[in-house]
Amino acid sequence: MRTGIFFYYQEGNRLRDFPNALEGILGRENVFFYDAFYPSKPASSFDLNPVSYEALLQVHTSEMIEEVRRAGVFEGALLSASGTVRAAEKIGRGEIDNAFVFTGYGDHHAGPDFFGGGCYFNGAGIAIQELRKEFGVKRFAIIDTDAHHGDGTWEVFRADPDVLYVCFCGYLFREENSNINIQVPSRVKDEEYLRLIKEGYLPKVKSFRPEILFWNWGYDGTQGEYGDIGLTPEVHIFLAKELKKIADEVSKGRFIIALCGGGRRDLAHYLIPRMIEVLAEVQIPAHR
Ligand SMILES: [Zn+2]
Ligand SMILES: [Zn+2]
Repeated sequence: MRTGIFFYYQEGNRLRDFPNALEGILGRENVFFYDAFYPSKPASSFDLNPVSYEALLQVHTSEMIEEVRRAGVFEGALLSASGTVRAAEKIGRGEIDNAFVFTGYGDHHAGPDFFGGGCYFNGAGIAIQELRKEFGVKRFAIIDTDAHHGDGTWEVFRADPDVLYVCFCGYLFREENSNINIQVPSRVKDEEYLRLIKEGYLPKVKSFRPEILFWNWGYDGTQGEYGDIGLTPEVHIFLAKELKKIADEVSKGRFIIALCGGGRRDLAHYLIPRMIEVLAEVQIPAHR
């Protein structure tokens, strides 16, 4: 498996250990690193290019884009979404098989004409439009395991039967086209959560047969996080293995994990390298 890492670092604590915490992974011959910004590297050597204004307009209204500009977060929002879009393009061209996208801002609360909750542009939404236009990809799946409801992504794909969007959150919503919400109890054990995914999700994605799988991965439901629902850190790694297996089986391994909610630096440091190891099918000696 060839794995791309799309890296955007911005001010803040949670990603402060990166990219250093990827030591032992970045040197692998099947791992490719595309970066937009981090303090120790000269700007001339960045590999992650921002997407165009036209690309944003495929999902968002011009008024909404202007509001993001006025909020003073345009560049960070653009580069966060760009990681997911560039990952999708490289997968479309067959240059990589799967990807992990570091973001400064998430995307699942960003809808066609609204944003909130630290999300501004919908990276997965834009990536899907690009894959349709440039590569003729027809069927897509997005799984959202951030602790909160992905109201933005829901709205982007509400009328789109070719995108299976499944959101795991604490709320109850009626199914619309291929938008499905699976309600998670406000306190849940790992086994129960994994059972919800295995029974509530895996059969659906298998029968839908997407050509590429996106995972809106938030770790904010982990114990001690701001969206704590009682999950342990290990559940994310189990889940990564399950979803990778499904992507290998139904989507020729095409799989993008995009970082969503979660605030703790120690959890980012522990989890992200291990998630990437699952993608790249490597394990560095220190993690054995
Ligand atoms: Zn969240
Ligand atoms: Zn939801």
